[in-house]
Amino acid sequence: MNTHLQSAVTLDGSEGEGGGQVLRTSLALSMLTGRPLHINHIRARRAKPGLMRQHLVCVQAAAEISAAEVDGAELGSQTLAFRPGPVRAGDYRFAISSAGSCTLVLQTVLPPLLMAGAPSRIELSGGTHNPMAPPFHFLERAWLPLLRRMGGEVSLELKRHGFYPAGGGVVCASVQGGSRLQPLELTTRGPLREAYAESLVAGMPRGVGQRELQVLQQALGWSAGQLRLPGMRQNEGPGNVLMATLVHEHTTEVFTQFGERGLPAEQVGARLLAELRDYQASTAAVGPHLCDQLALLMALAGGGRYTASEMTEHSRTNCRVIQQFLPVRFDIEARDGVWWVTVQEGAGSAA
Ligand code: AMP
Repeated sequence: MNTHLQSAVTLDGSEGEGGGQVLRTSLALSMLTGRPLHINHIRARRAKPGLMRQHLVCVQAAAEISAAEVDGAELGSQTLAFRPGPVRAGDYRFAISSAGSCTLVLQTVLPPLLMAGAPSRIELSGGTHNPMAPPFHFLERAWLPLLRRMGGEVSLELKRHGFYPAGGGVVCASVQGGSRLQPLELTTRGPLREAYAESLVAGMPRGVGQRELQVLQQALGWSAGQLRLPGMRQNEGPGNVLMATLVHEHTTEVFTQFGERGLPAEQVGARLLAELRDYQASTAAVGPHLCDQLALLMALAGGGRYTASEMTEHSRTNCRVIQQFLPVRFDIEARDGVWWVTVQEGAGSAA
């Protein structure tokens, strides 16, 4: 990938969705292509603009694996210059401050390490189930199987749960290296093979989880075997996460809602139910989160096509950022009640 033009890419972080994903996707692509990156107005439209601690960790992790020269890597900074060197496979440990998400850092460093010349092992400590980030189980069950199907040799292990805001979780990733991703055609989800829900309850009464699951039981008629309250180490809390997993023949989706102080368990259950029903009402292969996270993998493969139940500003922004780095074009259209995303080689301006 380092053969691509080495010209710098300048991004305006205030355009489109304008969140941390612009930063993570562009760091990953800067390392993969060797192209220096300049970002201005980082997270300009957020309540607390600029780099927050969790974004800084992504920059630092990226700098470590690619021996990058970096300017502007400070809390609150709204500009960043990142000049990567060659990506080095290796054994890495990244400690993320208690509130930060391990999985977002993992998604920054994983694509470049996937294509590096040798295997890597990455250990991340911090949050494993954070709001506004892919929960570990989503990555493991929904995202990883698609990455593997495309030829990415990666394994993930959850050593310890870490909930927002206490953190303290540990995730390990082993990456084979030397992968060349293959295009994927993912336009239908296929028949439902399995459906189940879990409530993770750590350091708080298990009755919270029972009440959440009861909402699903009453609305969906799921059996006791489909409603799970797994045993947790109580010192992993406090934390509560309600997840529903739908295993279809071609895709698995994982929907997640987080328990919050002051939010009744019944409402957590009702929110999850609403998310699940939105996906069930559609025939698309993937939901809104897989939609934005698949874009980079498809672009790295140089092509592919998928259908999504929802097209978020996150997804559109991600596609636009990718098009700045790689000679690919995203075409996004609504047809037959679903969103079709087609990725092909060529100059991009469509997303
Ligand atoms: P940002 O808000 O720009 O930091 O990006 C957040 C990322 O986390 C996006 O890729 C979202 O799709 C992803 N994300 C947020 N919530 C979930 C969830 N419940 N399940 C899976 N991915 C999520």
